[in-house]
Parts: sequence; C-alpha cells; structure tokens
Amino acid sequence: MKIHEYQARQLLSDAGIPVPPGRMVETVEDAVAETERILASGESLVVVKAQVHAGGRGKAGFVKLVKTVEEAREAATFMLGNRMVSVQTGPEGIEVKRLLVAAGVDIDKEFYLAVTLDRSRGVNTLIASAEGGVEIETVAHENPEAILKAPIHPLSGLEAFEARTMAKRLGFTGRQIQQAASIMQKLATLYTSLDASLVEINPLVLTPPSDDAPEGRVMAIDAKFGFDDNALYRHKDLQAMHDPAEDNPAETRAEAAGLSYVALDGNIGCLVNGAGLAMSTMDIVKLHGGEPANFLDVGGSATKDAVTEAFRIILGDDRVQGVLVNIFGGIMKCDTIADAIVGAAKEVGFEVPLVVRLEGTNVDAARRILEDAKSEIPTMRTAGDLADAAKTVCAAVAG
Ligand code: GDP
Ligand code: MN
Repeated sequence: MKIHEYQARQLLSDAGIPVPPGRMVETVEDAVAETERILASGESLVVVKAQVHAGGRGKAGFVKLVKTVEEAREAATFMLGNRMVSVQTGPEGIEVKRLLVAAGVDIDKEFYLAVTLDRSRGVNTLIASAEGGVEIETVAHENPEAILKAPIHPLSGLEAFEARTMAKRLGFTGRQIQQAASIMQKLATLYTSLDASLVEINPLVLTPPSDDAPEGRVMAIDAKFGFDDNALYRHKDLQAMHDPAEDNPAETRAEAAGLSYVALDGNIGCLVNGAGLAMSTMDIVKLHGGEPANFLDVGGSATKDAVTEAFRIILGDDRVQGVLVNIFGGIMKCDTIADAIVGAAKEVGFEVPLVVRLEGTNVDAARRILEDAKSEIPTMRTAGDLADAAKTVCAAVAG
C-alpha cells in the first residue's frame, strides 16, 4: 500500500524529522485560505503540490512555488482541473483530487535518502545521494557511484556512528552532520516499526544559513512510503490512510472477486488459472511477439461468477484487442470455464478474437459446450496446445 505525501510528512514529523508545516485541501478555496494563513504567519514562500500516488510531479508542473494568494489560486485551479501526466503515469495521466499547501523553503542543496530492502544482499539498506531532487533512477543509471549505501544491522539498527559517517560522505559539515544523521536513524526506525517496504525522502534539503541556524537546516520536503500489505493488519492507523481513489479500479474489482489481477501495458488479455501457468503464459505470448494486457490468475477453485467477472474486467480494458484463455483443469474444472465463456459472451460479447486452450478435468464436456456455442461466439477459436494458442492470438491481434 502507498500513501500520499501529506500523510508521509505527518509520519516523518511525528517521528521527529523536521518537515515544513502544511495542510491537505480538496478545493481551490481551501488552498487559497491555507496560503493566506501561511503567508500571514510570516512565511514568504508557499508550495502547492498535487497529492497523487505518482512522482515526477515537479517536472509535470504539479509542484508550484507561489508568493501570493492569486498565484496559489491559479496553481490550485490548474492542478484540480487537469490530469497529471508524468514519467510515472501512463499517457492518460491521473486525476488530482487533493493538494498539499505547505510553507516553502529556500534550498541550498538537495539530497536523496531512503531505506529499503536490498534483496541481493538480504538486508535492509540506507541509500543516500548528494544528487537528490532529480529522478534518482537517472543518477543510478548514469552516475552509479553517486548512490551511497549502508547496510542496516537487523538487530542493532542504524547506529549513530554509521549515520554520521553517511552524513559526512554526503558532504554535510559541522552541525549539519548531527541533523542529517538523526534524520537517517529516525527514518531507519520508522521503516522497521511501520513494516514499510520503502521510505524515501527526495529531496532532503539543506537550507541556506540564517540568523537562528547559521549552518543551515536539514529537512524533508517530499516523502514517499510503501508498506508491506501482509503486515497491514497490525497497523490500523496506516490502513486508515488508504485512499481508494488512487487504486486501479480493475484491480480493486478483481480483489473483491478473489482474483489475482495485475494490469499491464499490452493488448492481449490473459485468463489463466495458477500463478505459475499465468507467468508462463505471459512468457509464451511475448515469445510469439505479443504483449500481455494483464496478469490474471482465477485461482484453483474459482466459480462461474468469478470467471465471468474476470472476463468483464479483461474486456473492460479498451486496450485489449484479443483474449487468450489458458486453463489447466486440476481442481478447476474445464467445463466451469467453458460455461463462463458462454455466459460472458451472452452478457458482454466477445468483439475481439478469443483463443481458448483447455486441458485437464472435464475437458471433453468443456469442448462440447464450446462447440455448441460456436455460432454464438464467432470470434472464438480453440487451440490444441499452448504454443498454438499463443501463436493464434498473437497473429489475430497483429493482423
Ligand atoms: P516530485 O517531483 O513529485 O518528486 O515532487 P517534489 O516535492 O520532490 O518537488 C520537486 C522539486 O520541486 C524539488 O526537487 C525542489 O527542487 C522543488 N521544490 C519543492 N518544494 C520546494 C520548496 O519548498 N522550495 C523550493 N525552493 N523548491 C521546492
Ligand atoms: Mn520528490
């Protein structure tokens, strides 16, 4: 599960990590009122930021620094009235329903800071870079030595000396070192205590020297958290932060029907039983030059209703130009699938080519059901084996 930046900032702030004050708003009027309040408190800079579960907002024009109420109104009107298209969204973009209005800060330097699991080494790891702010993926690709890593001991956590060493390697000096090190230790503790899969501050900033902070201040001005869904049952407060508006609607429907579904970018809808078979089906589709539109595992004991819902979800994706059904009937009975295909054809209709490969329990009964329904489902073809099925569907979509 992901949460919004404003929620992540609250978690950081509760843990004692310095974050500029701000508030989440859902209307232009509230954004204006909040800007007014921040300016009246003596700040000269306000930042208006789209709250969506995708990054790259700055470059997309959905993070705006403003100095007046009029500018805030313009920024909020733009963000709430336009879909945000960034490197992290599809070309269709995403709707913006919430904004964060926060005190803006002057920045001397931007850093990157994160904690996540390094799977290759099997250890939680602190990741940091003095090249923060921009897309960290680009830095990792073009300048990998600029990404610093420190493994975190599973029992003792990130020790003070390790955090200070990292702060120095990033170029912090004097009092900045203690500020940065303390943020690192708090972030590492948050990661473990919240069962996170990722905690990221990008950018962590150093502000210019001021009268009350002659060496500048280190603070977080953007934050991202990912949580392990399997551990959410023990974090009711985090569960409450879930924003269903950010979920993929097809994935939500699939979950409700007990299906494992992941939307992908291709145009061949796949309906398969078993995660392993679903993955090999995607592989074989790709081998024959096709691109799967989804991963869909209907499970071992899906009912006709669940399978019909699976077809509704696949056909509801308007990128789908062909459907491949690949079922190995073990616990799942092939005739259940065949019934569902006929049911779905009656209900939603298959306007795109449909290729069906069935094998296993009750396959003869299933073949009879499909044979009898052939005239009702003119786009349907049956395939003898998996390679034949993949070839047929790829050819149908390409042609
Ligand atoms: P992202 O693009 O979605 O990661 O959004 P960020 O919150 O990281 O903002 C993108 C960039 O906008 C940052 O890297 C900063 O350069 C800039 N920015 C964001 N907030 C402020 C702020 O309060 N003051 C200044 N000066 N720049 C900011
Ligand atoms: Mn950022």
